[in-house]
This record gives sequence, C-alpha cells and structure tokens, in this order.
Amino acid sequence: MNVLVVNAGSSSLKYQLFDTNTNIVKAKGLCEYIGSGGTAGTEGNIKHKVNGKINLERAIPMPNHAVATGIVVEMLTHHEFGCIKNMDEIEAVGHRIVHGGSYFSDSVLVNDDVVAKLEKCIDFAPLHTPPHLMGIRGCMEVMPDTPQVLVFDTGFHKSIPEEAYIYPIPYKYYEKYQIRRYGFHGTSHKYVSQEMCKILGRTEGTKIVTCHMGNGSSVAAVKDGKGIDTSMGFTPLEGVSMGTRSGSIDPAIVTFIMKKENFTPQRMDEFMNKECGLLGVSEVSNDSRDLEKAIKEGNPKALLAMNILAYQIKKYIGAYSAAMNGLDAVVFTAGIGENNYLIRERICRDMDYLGIKIDEKINEKTLLLPNAVEISTGDSKVKVYVIPTNEELVIAYDTADIVNNLIKM
Ligand code: AMP
Repeated sequence: MNVLVVNAGSSSLKYQLFDTNTNIVKAKGLCEYIGSGGTAGTEGNIKHKVNGKINLERAIPMPNHAVATGIVVEMLTHHEFGCIKNMDEIEAVGHRIVHGGSYFSDSVLVNDDVVAKLEKCIDFAPLHTPPHLMGIRGCMEVMPDTPQVLVFDTGFHKSIPEEAYIYPIPYKYYEKYQIRRYGFHGTSHKYVSQEMCKILGRTEGTKIVTCHMGNGSSVAAVKDGKGIDTSMGFTPLEGVSMGTRSGSIDPAIVTFIMKKENFTPQRMDEFMNKECGLLGVSEVSNDSRDLEKAIKEGNPKALLAMNILAYQIKKYIGAYSAAMNGLDAVVFTAGIGENNYLIRERICRDMDYLGIKIDEKINEKTLLLPNAVEISTGDSKVKVYVIPTNEELVIAYDTADIVNNLIKM
C-alpha cells in the first residue's frame, strides 16, 4: 500500500511516500516557510527527492498547509519529478501526532469526532497540535476520499503501569486535568525495540533499554516488547538534558528563577524549552557536532554539557535495569545516538558491573550506517546496538493496518 506519511509543524510539512508492500520510500521531502505571507526569500519552499534520482528545491508560495499539501501531491504525480501517475495511487495518509492526551493512544482513523477530540488535546501540546490539525485539514481538503490515520508519539507508552505514570501530586489533578506521564518518541522506541527483539530472536522475556538521543532525547524501558517506563513525562520537557530543553530539574528552581528574573509562566516555559540543555550549559550550541568540536578545542563547558547528558543516560540505564530486574540489550538511536560515538563511549564506560562492555574500535567506526550494528564485545552479557530509527515506517505500517482492516469490514 502506498502511504503518504505526513509530519506537519507550524510552518513546515515533512512527507514520505512509503510503499508498505516493498518497504521502499518512493519519494520524500519537506515544505518550509508555510504561511509566512510571501515575504521575499521566505514565500514557501519545497525540497523533493525521488528514489535518489530526483533532488530538487523550488520556491513556491504556500500560504497554508492545504496549499502545501496540494503542492506535495503535484510533485508526487508530476510527469517529470513524480513517482506515481495520479493522486488515487496514494492509498492512505498517516499523520505523526505528538500528543494523544487522554483520548488516544492507539492509532486511529480520522473522522469528525477524532478531529474534535484532537482539538481538545491542544492544551497538552500547544506548539504541536494546531499545526497537526492544519496538516490533517489540508490533506482532507486535497484528498477528501483518501483515508487518513493518526499515529501518536505517546502510543507506545500506553502499557506503562500506574506507579510509573502517576505523579506524586494530589490525585485529583490527574482526574481533573489528566496530568500523568504520557511519554514521547513512541514510534522510535517501538521501532528500535522491535528490531532489537528480532536480533535477540524473541520478544517474551526480553528486557531492553532504548536511548533515543537527538535534539530531543528520551529513554525507555521495554519489557516483553512493551513500554513499561520512559523518561519524558506529561510533556517532552521531562527526563534527560536535551538540545535546548532542561529535562528534569528540581521543581523549586522553576519558581526560584521566575521570582528572581521576573519571568511570566509563558517566559519560563520558553526558557526551559529553548534556552537550557546542551545550549544552556555549553553556551556554545544545541548541536552535539558543534560541542564535540568545541571539546576538541578545549572548551570545558562544552565537555560538561555532553558529560551531563551521558551521565543522565547512564543513570536511566541503571534505573531501568532495576525496574525490569535485568537487562538484555541497550539500543542507541536518533541523530546523536546513531552518529556520536564519543557519547556512546562516555555512557558505556564503567558499566561492566551491569554486564555492558563495548568494543571501542567498532563503536568508533559506527557512523551513518543504514543497518543495526552491534557495538558490544563478544563477552558482553548485555548486547549494545546502534539501530537507525525509522519512525515513518511505523506510521506507514500502522496506517496500512488500519486501512486494510477497514477494507475487510
Ligand atoms: P535529531 O533530532 O534526531 O535529528 O538529532 C539531532 C542531533 O543529532 C544534533 O545534536 C546533531 O548534532 C546530531 N547529529 C546528527 N547527525 C550527526 C552526525 N553525522 N554526527 C554527529 N552528530 C550528528
């Protein structure tokens, strides 16, 4: 089945046309500067790639997500730049949705009731949900007869038990506002943990820690193939230090800084999401490549920022091993996890008490590889792998499953 996977941001729309029969990405691309009003240089832009053969970039006005979707469809069906003959060959659309709130965890077919419920999720993810809705409405306008499915970043974590998802605040706030741990990066944790289970040759009885380390980072404990805990919480702000997000800090720091700096709640939110993490500590950059370069040049704050992240991930691996009563495998994935061998080394150093031993030479060479690579030594009790994530594949398969069931009904 040809599934168009859509990831709509506030001014962007990332897409992939994925064929679930052949596992091939037929085309992919990115629309940027959507809705920026036609100011010079930012009137809308599409980067479009087909099967490694076509690679083009065009400036095209994109006043809204519906226009951007129309342009994507035009590109996909273009006689020269396309890969399908007409729009009917797009058999389904799968949307990546950051937060399903208390309404959704499983992927769901879009209808009016689903859209109304997603609108109620705006409070949970005010930056992400409105653009998701624009993307859904844009696709509904351009492809009214094509089934649309929502796949939630929170979905994989639905199996987390109560003691891991209820916060120790008055219970009534869980009931009143649904404040609980939801967890994010679910499609990534699902994909890499399933790949790891294939490598281990079993799902039942497996105990895996998946470390998704990118601009946003989260760690998950996956037991018997199911998520049982994760570091992100009510929002993607909790957990380990990230590119610009603070991760978990003493909650008293929040009110302390607000008082001292005269910050409004909105300003504090922006501060914790945009000015902390790797960027805040290093005062250099949120990008780990810049930090590794600065470390080589002897910058101590850059080293500290990366050491904090490594130390926190190490602690989560230990904590989740305790939570699962053991550990079979650790997986590193996403931009930093897949490409930065130095942080993998910092994390895995002195972990032999847990049975983790990595081969530093193999680890060092593991960069930009398309497939899973084992970086643990032959005698390491715990397998350590680098597995490139593939969130689009999970979205495409979930979408195809739901649409196939619809056809059977
Ligand atoms: P993501 O959010 O998964 O796209 O990851 C972004 C992070 O991955 C940034 O901190 C980048 O520095 C890091 N990253 C991406 N590609 C590479 C690479 N080739 N080498 C080292 N780090 C990389």
